[in-house]
Amino acid sequence: MPSEEPTSRTATAPERPAGPGGPRWRALLESRWQARLEEVTELSLAYHGAAPAAPGGSGDGTGQQETRALLRRAIAARRKLADVEEALGRLAAGEFGRCEQCGSAIPAGLLAVIPETRYCPRCNAVPARADAVAGRRLR
Ligand SMILES: [Zn+2]
Repeated sequence: MPSEEPTSRTATAPERPAGPGGPRWRALLESRWQARLEEVTELSLAYHGAAPAAPGGSGDGTGQQETRALLRRAIAARRKLADVEEALGRLAAGEFGRCEQCGSAIPAGLLAVIPETRYCPRCNAVPARADAVAGRRLR
């Protein structure tokens, strides 16, 4: 029975397996982007809801502390959202998965966990970023 079906086989084949820049990373980044966006929205709403109560003369400083904590979390979440957006930009530019510091490939295993990472594990471990920002490498 010559029941070969080349059409159904080629239909799933053309996608590149797991290379950086593949649609798999885009899907991963987009799901993370959505999660971060929800986080930012939630925290921002919570902060703005709590903020008007804080500067009053209600006496206790606990509300103010909570509001500041919410603001800090909202800012951190926004930063993470920006990281994911930048990673999406790198993906579009074909630069996804490359270390911004040394240019070497970031292991796929790390990208699978933190797809928005900018640095390879080596550069991430060494606090060389501060030096790079300063423009000078000591030693
Ligand atoms: Zn590196």
